Amino acid sequence: MPSPSAQVPSSVVVVGAGLAGAQTAAALRKHGFEGRLTVLGAEGLPPYDRPPLSKELLKRTEPVWLADDLGIDLTALADDLRLADPATRLEADRERVVVRTASGDDVVADAVVLACGSVPVRPAGWDAAATLHTAADAERLRAAVVPGIRLVVVGAGWIGAEIAGVAAGGGARVTVVEAGPVPLERQLGRKVGGLLSPWYDDAGVTLVTGVAVDEVLPRPGDAAEGGSMRLADGRVLEADLVLAAVGARPASGWLAGSLPLEANGGLRVNRAGRFMGVRSPTDPAGRLHLDALRRIWAVGDIATRDHPVFGPVPGGHWSAALHDPEVTVRALLGLDERPAEPEHVRERLGLAPVPRHAPYVFSQQLGHDLALFGVPSPFDDVVLRGAHVSDDKRRNGHSSGGWAALYLENALDRHPRRTSDGHRVATVRAMLLVDSPREVGQVRKLMNRGVPLEVDLDRALDPALKLKDAVIRG
Ligand SMILES: Cc1cc2nc3c(=O)[nH]c(=O)nc-3n(C[C@H](O)[C@H](O)[C@H](O)COP(=O)(O)OP(=O)(O)OC[C@H]3O[C@@H](n4cnc5c(N)ncnc54)[C@H](O)[C@@H]3O)c2cc1C
Repeated sequence: MPSPSAQVPSSVVVVGAGLAGAQTAAALRKHGFEGRLTVLGAEGLPPYDRPPLSKELLKRTEPVWLADDLGIDLTALADDLRLADPATRLEADRERVVVRTASGDDVVADAVVLACGSVPVRPAGWDAAATLHTAADAERLRAAVVPGIRLVVVGAGWIGAEIAGVAAGGGARVTVVEAGPVPLERQLGRKVGGLLSPWYDDAGVTLVTGVAVDEVLPRPGDAAEGGSMRLADGRVLEADLVLAAVGARPASGWLAGSLPLEANGGLRVNRAGRFMGVRSPTDPAGRLHLDALRRIWAVGDIATRDHPVFGPVPGGHWSAALHDPEVTVRALLGLDERPAEPEHVRERLGLAPVPRHAPYVFSQQLGHDLALFGVPSPFDDVVLRGAHVSDDKRRNGHSSGGWAALYLENALDRHPRRTSDGHRVATVRAMLLVDSPREVGQVRKLMNRGVPLEVDLDRALDPALKLKDAVIRG
């Protein structure tokens, strides 16, 4: 039952037909929304899953459709489904929202859920580089990655690493150029990134670090993507194909005149996914009226969503696009009172806890499985659990086995805290599991509890013990 104070919308427009948009549409119907539902997409395709585009580039010739994978059929859920009529403008006032589409139509509704995801970053001067974000990109890339091709991937991030390994496995001659000193430095920090560097060599990929790309030059007289590239140190690398894998940013360009955006282009939403409309440098019209704000929601990659433990978390997590629409839709329909309140307030009010998923990224790269829970910060102390093996031993045929990196929020040496038996106490801000599939389930449970995770560090670093047995609070 909606709460008595809630104004339940009788029409909703969902912008974006990806994972978050599909989950939103499914949750609306699941929770009894009988009003008019419009879904706008941009790619002309029904929703599909993006992670396999890189991980299974050469194996899969068809996208993994969400209709098969999650049973979400937008044609059955939406009254008006337009998969190739993207939104171009949003206006919101106290009475309604109006979404203008590329075909010139105005879709009028009581509420809008913005689920338009992200777009790959392509720096100026890189027009000749390919990117991988959509099924159409994957199809082009698959056709181009043939044995012997010289592929240069710019960026040793999640997607760059995945593609490099897959393409090398398919016989391509792959070089990865990374501006940072180690792979994934921005995401995992220098210490852990350094542990991943040898994986490139092992997979037959050349890794060039510490040098930026200035320009991607097309092959003379050839429209194909990438011919060579000029590096900041003056070197020129020849390539048959250049792939830019230097990150993604929220697909919010079309909203810039309507809503205040975060510096990264994201939409700042509260824990329930409701747009907060905070003043920002891009704010076109100052604060929107509260009754207009109540009509705007955002989920998935486009949203920077408040989390009780991690604070504002920018999008870019598949798991957020999967899970957050449920909480958002319940709030939008007035089925959950005060979904954005801290848990202790909800408890006092007799309200059930709201599921809070920790940010989660998974990756299969260069022959390794990674699972990252939480948000590492450059200020964290990083400690390793398990059998990370030195380079020498690895070259001599020792397997590194599974290991984990724990990102600790409090500096142990400066503020020591101890258990009653003298063990060090630490708060885990993030945890990276490498080649440890059996630990993923328990770590997910621990990190999803919605409170800071405190561990007995001496126990947590003993791989013979289960991590859950090291928990003090969380
Ligand atoms: C190659 C690849 C591999 C990935 N691997 C992983 C992984 O291993 N682990 C992980 O956690 N995450 C991964 N991700 C990220 C993950 O796929 C995203 O976090 C997830 O897809 C976000 O879902 P979304 O619905 O918010 O956005 P999207 O999936 O991007 O869907 C948004 C949709 O909205 C459409 N759209 C955009 N603008 C408009 C508009 N104005 N009007 C209408 N429609 C619009 C877009 O075309 C798109 O179809 C990967 C992403 C890529 C590209």
